Amino acid sequence: MTPMMQQFRDAKEQHPGMLVLFRNGDFYELFEDDAELGHRVLGLTLTKRDKEIPMAGFPQHKLEHYLGMLLRAGHRVAVCEQMEEAGGGKKIIRREVNRVVTPGTVTEDELLDPRAPNHLAALLRTKAGVYGLAWCDLSTGTFFAADLPERHVPDEAARIAPAECLLPDDQADVLRATLGAALPASVVPRPGWTFDPTSAVDALRKHFQVATFSGFGFDDGQPCLAAAGALLIYLQETLKASLAHVRRLRAYRPESVLVLDEVTRRSLELTRTHRDNLREGSLLALIDRTVTPMGARFLHDTLLAPLKDRTAIEARHDAVEELLNDHQLRGTLRDLLDATSDLQRLTTRVSTARATPKDLAAVARTLRLLPKFKAKLAGRKAPLLGDMDAKLELCPDLRDLLDRALAEDPPYSAKEGGILREGYHAELDDLRKLARDGKDWIARYQAQEVTRTGITSLKVGFTDVMGYYIEITNANETRVPPDYIHERTLKNCKRYSTPRLKEYEEKVVTAQERSQALEFELFLQLRDQIAAQTLRLLQTADILALLDFLAGLADLAASRNYVRPVMTDDPVLNIRDGRHPVLDQVLPPGTFVPNDAAFGPNDGTFWLITGPNMAGKSTFIRQVALVTLLAHIGSFVPAKAATVGITDRIFTRVGASDELNRGQSTFMVEMTEAANILNNATPRSLVILDEIGRGTSTYDGVSLAWAITEYLHDTVGCRALFATHYHELAQLAPALPRLRNYTVQVQELEKEVIFLHKIAPGSADKSYGIHVARLAGVPEPILGRAEQVLASLETRQPLRAAPLTVPPRRPEKPITVDPPERPRRRVKEPTGPSLFGDGQE
Ligand code: ADP
Repeated sequence: MTPMMQQFRDAKEQHPGMLVLFRNGDFYELFEDDAELGHRVLGLTLTKRDKEIPMAGFPQHKLEHYLGMLLRAGHRVAVCEQMEEAGGGKKIIRREVNRVVTPGTVTEDELLDPRAPNHLAALLRTKAGVYGLAWCDLSTGTFFAADLPERHVPDEAARIAPAECLLPDDQADVLRATLGAALPASVVPRPGWTFDPTSAVDALRKHFQVATFSGFGFDDGQPCLAAAGALLIYLQETLKASLAHVRRLRAYRPESVLVLDEVTRRSLELTRTHRDNLREGSLLALIDRTVTPMGARFLHDTLLAPLKDRTAIEARHDAVEELLNDHQLRGTLRDLLDATSDLQRLTTRVSTARATPKDLAAVARTLRLLPKFKAKLAGRKAPLLGDMDAKLELCPDLRDLLDRALAEDPPYSAKEGGILREGYHAELDDLRKLARDGKDWIARYQAQEVTRTGITSLKVGFTDVMGYYIEITNANETRVPPDYIHERTLKNCKRYSTPRLKEYEEKVVTAQERSQALEFELFLQLRDQIAAQTLRLLQTADILALLDFLAGLADLAASRNYVRPVMTDDPVLNIRDGRHPVLDQVLPPGTFVPNDAAFGPNDGTFWLITGPNMAGKSTFIRQVALVTLLAHIGSFVPAKAATVGITDRIFTRVGASDELNRGQSTFMVEMTEAANILNNATPRSLVILDEIGRGTSTYDGVSLAWAITEYLHDTVGCRALFATHYHELAQLAPALPRLRNYTVQVQELEKEVIFLHKIAPGSADKSYGIHVARLAGVPEPILGRAEQVLASLETRQPLRAAPLTVPPRRPEKPITVDPPERPRRRVKEPTGPSLFGDGQE
C-alpha cells in the first residue's frame, strides 16, 4: 500500500461509518466504497487509482456544494486536509481529519436552512418499555429531553424531524421499527455504554456542572437523561469543539402543549404541502411574516407544538394586539429586526470556535441595535413586551469590546490580517507600521531606480514564490546596471533582484507575517472573550426571536384582517365568518365564502356535514381546525369574531394519504387513524373527520360511520366535525341531542349546479356525483347512462342491462396545432390550486 493510501485507511479507521474526503493538491478524492458512493450520490466520474482502487474526486472549491449534497442524503463526512505545504523534497505530506460534518451537527450557515431547526436526536428503550428521547439543535444550542410511551414516539420524532438519530447498537433494529416513517436518513448506531445510565448521565452532569437535574425539571433517573448523555458524548467525540453554548437541558412535556399527531400535521399541511412535501403552499409559508431566521424558526416550532395554557396564549395575544394597533411601533421594530443577524447561530459559531471575523462583526452590528429595541419596548402595556424590555441584555461590555477591536469590514479569513482596528493593540500597530514603512520604501525605491537607469518601464513587483523583484523588458536589457542579479527570464522581460531590495523584503515580509500571526492570536482571544458570554447572547437572541414572531403575527393580522380570538377554559368554539387561512390568501380577493361555526352547550358539539363532493366540506372543517390552531399559537384568526375554548388535541382523519404506497390499504389506514382518535380523544379535543368508511362496502361504511358518530357524541363528547356524503347519517339527529345537521348550499339550474360554499343547517339529499363527473370531463353518453341507473336505483326498479349507447372512441386524430377540445363548463368552476391531495376528487 502506498503511504498516501495508508493515510486514507487511517482516517477511515478513526472515523467509522463516515465518508472520507481526502485532500490531494487542488482536489478532494474519494476512494474504494466512498468512491462508489460519490459516483451514486454526487454523480462523480468513477476512475481507478493504481489500476485497481476505485476513485472519484472534485475540485477543492466545490467542497461546500458536495458537502451539502452528502448531508442531505444523510451521510456523515470526515474531511482529511493537507496539514503542510507540498514540495521541499518531502516524500509524503502530513494529512489530518480536521473537520467532521454530519447532518445533525452542522452549524455552517451555507449548509443549513435558516428558517428551520436542525436536530440531532438520541433514543433508547428501557427494560420497562419506557422510551427516553433527547434532541438538540446544535446550531442554536437548544436541548430537550422527554420520557415517552411507545405510542408517542413516532409522533414526537416526526415533529422534531431529526436530521440524524443516535441509537444504542444493541437496540438499533427494534428502535428503527418503532420510529417507522419518522426515521431520518442518517441513523448512527452507537456503543451501548454511551447510553448507559451511569456513564451517560455522568457526562451530562460534568457538562452542566450539576449534581442533580431536578433544577432543570427532571427526576434523576429518568431514561431520557441517559439519552441526553449519549447525545452529548457523541457531540464531544465528533465535534471536539466547545459545547459551551449548550447551556440548558429542558424537559419537554407533551401535556403542556396542544398535541398534534403526525397524521394531523400532515393533513392540515402545517409546514409542508401534502402533495409535494414543500414548505411553499403550507400554512407555515402563508402565515410567516417574520423578518429574521430566529423568528421564522420560533414560528415553525410553535406551530408544531402550540400552547395550551390560556394565560400564556393571552399574553401573546396582548402583545400582538399592541403591535397591531401601534402601526409605527411595529414598523420600527420590524425594520430593526431586519437589520439584525442570526444571533442564535452566530453565537453558536462563536462558542464552537467556528466564527469568522465577519461573524464577530455581525454580532457587533446586532449588539449596536439593542439599545434601540429597548427604547421601543420600554413602557409598553402588554406584559410580554414589558417583560422583554426587562430581560433584554444590552451586553454593553461586549459591544464596546467588539467596537474597539474590530476593523470596519473585517474579512472571512482570520489568517490574513485586516481584522483588528488601529489602536486596539500596540504591538500589532508597531508591526503593521513596520510593514507599511517597508512597502513605502519599496515604492520609493522603484522611482529611484527609474531615475538611475533611465528605464521608465522599470517596475518593482511581488510574487509569493519570488518575493520582491525588479522587472525590465527585453527592449531595455542593455541598460540593466551591473549590480542587478538576474533571477528569472520570462517571454518579454527578465526579473532581477538587488541586495537592498532583498533586505527590505525581509523587513516587510517578516513584519507582515508577524503581524498576521499576532492578529490571528488576538482574534482567537477576542472570540474566546465573546464565547465566555454565550448565555447572555443567547438570551438576547431568544428575545429577538420572540419579538419577531409576535411582530410577524401582528403584520399578518393587519394585512389579512384577522381578529383577536377570545380564549376560554370551557370546551366551546364559536367562529363568526371564519375563513380558511390558506385558501383565503390564494383565491382572488373577495371570492372566498366565509362560514360560521358554533360548538358549545347550546349549539351542539357534533356537526355532521353532508353535501356533494366539491362543495367545500373539507375546506370548512379544516378551516375550523386551523382557526383553533392559530389561536393557540398566539395568533389572531381569519374571522370576524371568534371564541376559542382551550383544546388539548386536534385530531384529523381526512382522505386517503400517502400511506397507500407503504403497502397498507386505504381502508386499513382509515381505520387505524379512526382507532387512534377513538382511543385518545378527550372532551377537550377537536376532531375533524372527512369521510370515513369509504374504502369498504357502502353498508359496512355507513354502519361504521354511524357507530363512530354515536361513540364520539355519547362517550367522548368532544367538539367534532364530520363531513360525509352518507346522507343516511343525517337520520341520527333526533337520537343524538348534541348532533347538528349541516349541509353546503347548492344552487340547481336545470342540468347545471352551482356550489355556493355556504354552510347552512339541514342535510343534503343528493350527491351530484354525476354532475362532478361532468365537471371532470367524463363523456356525455356515460353521464346519460349513469343518470338512468341512478333513477332506477332511487325508485328501486330492477335494472335492465341496457346495451351501452356510448359510441366507440373516436380514432386518434391526426396531430393538429389546435388546442385540444375541452368539455364545456357552464357552472362555476372550482378555482384555486388544489390544496388537498387527499385523492377525493
Ligand atoms: P368537498 O370536501 O366538499 O369535496 P372541498 O372543500 O375540497 O370540497 O372544496 C372544493 C373546492 O371548492 C376547493 O378547492 C375550493 O377551490 C372551493 N371552495 C371550498 N370552500 C370554499 C369557500 N368557502 N369559498 C370559496 N371557494 C371554496
